[in-house]
Amino acid sequence: MKDKNMKNKNILISGASIGGPALAYWLARYGFHPTVVEQAPALREGGYAIDIRGAARLVSERMGIMEAVREATTKARGMSYVNSANKVQANMTVDQLGGEGIVSEFEILRGDLSHILYAVTKDTTEYIFNDSITSLVQNEDGVRVTFRRSEPRTFDLVIGADGLHSNVRALTFGDESQFIRHLGYYVSIFTAANHMHLDHWQLVYNMPGKLAGIYSSRQNSEAKAMFYFTSPPLSYDRHNSQEQKEIVAKMFAGEGWEIPQLLKAMQDAPDFYFDSISLIQMPCWSKGRVSLVGDAGYCPSPLSGQGTNLALVGAYVLAGELKEASGDYRTAFARYEEVMREYVERNQKAAQEGGQWFVAPTRLMIWLRNLNIGMLPYLPWKGLIIKAIQQQYAITLKNYDL
Ligand SMILES: Cc1cc2nc3c(=O)[nH]c(=O)nc-3n(C[C@H](O)[C@H](O)[C@H](O)COP(=O)(O)OP(=O)(O)OC[C@H]3O[C@@H](n4cnc5c(N)ncnc54)[C@H](O)[C@@H]3O)c2cc1C
Repeated sequence: MKDKNMKNKNILISGASIGGPALAYWLARYGFHPTVVEQAPALREGGYAIDIRGAARLVSERMGIMEAVREATTKARGMSYVNSANKVQANMTVDQLGGEGIVSEFEILRGDLSHILYAVTKDTTEYIFNDSITSLVQNEDGVRVTFRRSEPRTFDLVIGADGLHSNVRALTFGDESQFIRHLGYYVSIFTAANHMHLDHWQLVYNMPGKLAGIYSSRQNSEAKAMFYFTSPPLSYDRHNSQEQKEIVAKMFAGEGWEIPQLLKAMQDAPDFYFDSISLIQMPCWSKGRVSLVGDAGYCPSPLSGQGTNLALVGAYVLAGELKEASGDYRTAFARYEEVMREYVERNQKAAQEGGQWFVAPTRLMIWLRNLNIGMLPYLPWKGLIIKAIQQQYAITLKNYDL
């Protein structure tokens, strides 16, 4: 039921990946008028496979996208940790931790989820591609916005859903160095040939402090290759992928297993992604008529496995609270933080603890990790582990439709 007294209906969202289109969906459903500006010329492809878990699954069900998600799932069966001779050291299957392990039943490529969210919003949302906000000036009545290409416009509210290096955050709250917390790792992911003929399977080779992996995707017709490595913050041009490829190549030069082949594939990858593994930690996600959603406000890093889920849930709560408050942004933004903050902090904590387990730093740690994984199915306290993981993903969500 649309609210006739709804205020602040015209809302600009920066970023069309996960958080942006998800927010646009809920805003339009409640009677707001969302506009999304995305700096890329089209929806961005690429990225890793992500798992829709816990509360994010409920949100996806309420959006009615679960059928599309189910169709696009990677159907991954599991993964193996291997040594330099490609000999299996430990296996982990989807069902090993009741679907709550490294791979889950609802694993989908980030780019595919972005397309699903775009499909359910394109008729109710104005999308502007190939553009970006250049300035935001707030006053009593709205936010005056200038763009790199479009004419200036005034919106009632502006939401940054523009990721780890958010533009809206920088324009509103200042330099990202105040909020970014480097966890000591870098990640690179890109599409490659499935040259090992993997069948819905992932292989991971962990050297001390470094990790390379490959998993089949799109019905095994291609693969995603990935590199993770430990490093203090590096200085490089974020818009120069050639420079970033050189960093990865240098880091893995001379290593064995399939690494030479994967480094070769990286050079021609159509969707090379490289970034630091970092958290965004802010004392407050909103200032006046501007707020943040997803990685822009509270990036939990890939080590939490929850970046996409937090963006989906954050979008749901932010839009829902705006609806509940009939568009009164002061009340809604405060409630949004109240509902979300503990959930965000819990997942950021898990990321900080998870790095050493995933990219084990020593041979002893690699051996211990593999041993633990091998024993998982037989542990009498396996149920407790599953429960603890499920608690990480849980948050009680209101049904804002009621
Ligand atoms: C191409 C791509 C690949 C990714 N791959 C991985 C990965 O392999 N592993 C991982 O852990 N995480 C990856 N991520 C991040 C992951 O998608 C997020 O952690 C999570 O899904 C939360 O999504 P988000 O919508 O908050 O932010 P993001 O998914 O980061 O999306 C931000 C969006 O904002 C856009 N944007 C940025 N600056 C501007 C601007 N100035 N104006 C307008 N739009 C702007 C970006 O182009 C992007 O579409 C990737 C993101 C992208 C965009």
